[in-house]
Amino acid sequence: MAFFLDESERLKNLPPYLFVEIDRAKRRAIEKGVRVIDFGVGDPDRPTPAFVLSALSKFIKNPATHHYPLDRGSAEFRRAAARWCEKRFGVTLDPDTEILPLIGSKEGIAHLPLAYLNPGDTALVPDPCYPPYKSGTLFAGGRAHLLPLREENGFLPDFEAVPAEILKKAKIIFVNYPNNPTGAVAPRAFYERLVAWGTKHKILIASDLAYSEIYLGNQKPLSIFEIPGGKETAIEFHSLSKTCNMTGWRVGFAAGRADAISALLRVKANLDSGVFTAIQLTAAEALRKSFGFSKKANLLYKRRRDLLVGGLRKLGFPVEPNPATFYVFTRLPGDARDSTAFCKNLLEKTGIVVTPGVGFGPAGEGYARFTLTVPEPQIREALSRMKKIF
Ligand SMILES: *Cc1c(COP(=O)(O)O)cnc(C)c1O
Repeated sequence: MAFFLDESERLKNLPPYLFVEIDRAKRRAIEKGVRVIDFGVGDPDRPTPAFVLSALSKFIKNPATHHYPLDRGSAEFRRAAARWCEKRFGVTLDPDTEILPLIGSKEGIAHLPLAYLNPGDTALVPDPCYPPYKSGTLFAGGRAHLLPLREENGFLPDFEAVPAEILKKAKIIFVNYPNNPTGAVAPRAFYERLVAWGTKHKILIASDLAYSEIYLGNQKPLSIFEIPGGKETAIEFHSLSKTCNMTGWRVGFAAGRADAISALLRVKANLDSGVFTAIQLTAAEALRKSFGFSKKANLLYKRRRDLLVGGLRKLGFPVEPNPATFYVFTRLPGDARDSTAFCKNLLEKTGIVVTPGVGFGPAGEGYARFTLTVPEPQIREALSRMKKIF
């Protein structure tokens, strides 16, 4: 008989995995032969563009790419990332000290707290949010203080209301616009107040820009580095996953304060050996050509959004069209409040998978998230199935 392996407190203390019930119900439905329509996963349904594939097949043939990547990663990728930021946001970054390749931006986000939090320190984390802000903080022995994102405040956190005794222990604040799961964007004034506040309280701003290129109107999302003082207070996380349909490739980069970049590098140097060089070189190529690509992808997401949001509104969902990201975050219709029960019931009655808002944090209760990574015929089919129950 194998002996009992007692898991670490850090694993035991992870918040419960709230999607378990939905996952189970989804598997049951598939086993029963239901044609499930999955609005659950935030992963582009379209393949990686062909120009990216041909770049990889070229670089992979060069044996120089087959070794351990150098510690700061490919200089060519870092230069391409800096040039991309310059072209896109008009900000100047030093590719040698202010850019760091990541194994997907999630990796850098989850490791950042190890660089700055001591046990008992606090990270300010939006609620609802992308889960690694919380889990990365807990793994570093830190505490996550949740900042609720309310629809009536444009899903922006009220960081100025954080009490002084919390601020004393706070080292990092995570922000994410365009936002997952709410689809919200942040105006310039928000970043201006955030930079002033972060500077005053000496709190590192970790700004997650995974969706910077997924915007459905004319307003381009901002980089915090466009704000005077931004580069002195922030580290920003960029990803090719959503922009170039490259979620499986695991490549992104961090940009910003040289000391934060080098602290994150020291964490990473002890945990991983970087991104496969052929993928870094391919990512450089993708960054050089991605603007045209994301324009087309955004038209597709916009059509799907208009179809889904229009249909949901007719069914009684009080939903506003999301200005960015491929997420429709909607308040539940009627007097439904329990998002887990709502999503479970929807799946059982219609075979449609959506994510309960509470899975992203307590302030997400009363909401559900639909992804727009589903083709239009399936969106139409889902709307007609829902019509039968609402
Ligand atoms: C998808 C996503 C990421 C990107 O993850 P990668 O590790 O780069 O694939 C980062 N932040 C948010 C909020 C996301 O939804």
